Amino acid sequence: MVQINPDLCKNCGYCVKFCPKKVLATGQNRNRRGQFYPVMTDEAGCITCAVCAMMCPEGAIEVTEGGANT
Ligand code: SF4
Ligand code: SF4
Repeated sequence: MVQINPDLCKNCGYCVKFCPKKVLATGQNRNRRGQFYPVMTDEAGCITCAVCAMMCPEGAIEVTEGGANT
C-alpha cells in the first residue's frame, strides 16, 4: 500500500506525473506548509511499484507490500 505523509509534501507533482498507473492525483486540501498534496484515487489499480516513493524528493511516500494486488 502507498502511504503519503502530507506534511512533507512540497507539491512538486513528480509522484502524480510518473505513476505508471495514474492512480495518484493532486488533492483538494493543503498541508501544514500550505501545499496541495497527492491522494490515491484508485487503490486497487496501484501495482506497488514504488516509483512514486523513488521520485519523491521529500521522502513523503512509503510503499509497502500488502496492497490490493500483492
Ligand atoms: S506504487 Fe506505483 S502504481 Fe502505486 S501509486 Fe506509486 S507509482 Fe503509482
Ligand atoms: S513527489 Fe513527494 S513532494 Fe512531490 S508531490 Fe509527490 S508526495 Fe509531494
